[in-house]
Amino acid sequence: MYTYILKCSDNTYYTGWTTDLRKRLNAHNRKKGAKYTKPRLPARLVYWEYFRTQSRAQRREWEIKQLTRKEKENLINQNLKNEGDVLMEKTLRYTIDQLEKILKIPSPSGHTEYVKDHISKELNTLKVNYLETHKGAIIATIDGEETEEHRTVSAHMDTLGAMVKEIKSNGRLKFDPIGGYMMNSVEGENCIIETYDQKQYTGTFFTTKPSVHIHSDAKKTERSVENMEVLIDEKVSSVEDVEKLGISIGDFIFFDPRTQIRENGFIKSRHIDDKAGVALMLGMISDLIENDKKPFYTTHFFFSNYEEVGHGASASIPEKTKEFLAIDMSTPGEGQNSTEFHVTICAKDSTGPYDFGLRKKLVELAKEHKINYKVDLYPYYGSDASAALRSGNDFKAALIGPGVYASHGYERTHEEAINNTLKLGIQYLLSK
Ligand SMILES: [Zn+2]
Repeated sequence: MYTYILKCSDNTYYTGWTTDLRKRLNAHNRKKGAKYTKPRLPARLVYWEYFRTQSRAQRREWEIKQLTRKEKENLINQNLKNEGDVLMEKTLRYTIDQLEKILKIPSPSGHTEYVKDHISKELNTLKVNYLETHKGAIIATIDGEETEEHRTVSAHMDTLGAMVKEIKSNGRLKFDPIGGYMMNSVEGENCIIETYDQKQYTGTFFTTKPSVHIHSDAKKTERSVENMEVLIDEKVSSVEDVEKLGISIGDFIFFDPRTQIRENGFIKSRHIDDKAGVALMLGMISDLIENDKKPFYTTHFFFSNYEEVGHGASASIPEKTKEFLAIDMSTPGEGQNSTEFHVTICAKDSTGPYDFGLRKKLVELAKEHKINYKVDLYPYYGSDASAALRSGNDFKAALIGPGVYASHGYERTHEEAINNTLKLGIQYLLSK
């Protein structure tokens, strides 16, 4: 839902709300809009705000209508928009919507079937050709103007998780982590344990000394995997009780992502790394398809499925790929240049510097299209591009992504970072 302001031909402002900016603007200009705008056409869309509910959009409409002309002008000038932004707005909403859906679908490395189903359905809806590799990655392809040299863009659909390692004699579960995370970041976290037959039980991660009223050393207990366990929400107190549920060694454990999309643009959830990248690739694809744009080079969109454990995009990179762009989170925090509002172009990570020429090209594109960007280094990080290079591929590689605070914990980013990454990604696809 949007609250919007039109600038009419007599320089007055009209404020309204709508579900679709483009349709509503067209309606106004075909004299099918409001009585006020009819004799004052053409009208230009100069401002909008997005809300998740109609009541909030209507409330904002009322608030804006109380503003003086000067106050309205200040509001508009703070955030100047043009017609091109209306098209991007639609792609952004699609991307955020996809992100919210994907965040809620469990997909730890090794068990990415559910998210793969979702991505496949979405690609079918967009009518894009794709294939599945032996390893289980998805590669969607869109033909470009130039078909002899190709580009590959990647994001990983797998996330952190855990696996049942041992059923303890007290009916609790020992687990083995999938991917790298701090135990304090999962302490107290709810989860789902999925059995071999896809039966699901809920549970919670605790230390083995979870209560300050019982354990004098509860606070000091080291948060290590040895001192952690999963409590199943069932009446179980022995190995047999747990086995009766159908739970066995090797079952996957999914973290509760606790996804929250706030109206002020903040996005909080587990696994924004790299579901934001997956949603961004779908957003880029939808932007090309819906707006009839052709990428300059034939482009492959690689949804990898083992990145968190190190060998994500290490195989099956389409042969003609001469450039590889990984879309994965950046790391804002102390000593870092990245933020939760910019797209970051990575200069170097733990695997070494990315291709300098390609990095410069991305910086130039960001400057040219007024996209808010930062350049940063991630000393303890490797991406799908690193995996692909290490496995012997010959191409130039780059890494871009939205800033994700508290990575591999309960993460946070902002819609602005998603939007900036989306814009840079699309400009890259269209560029020579
Ligand atoms: Zn990642």
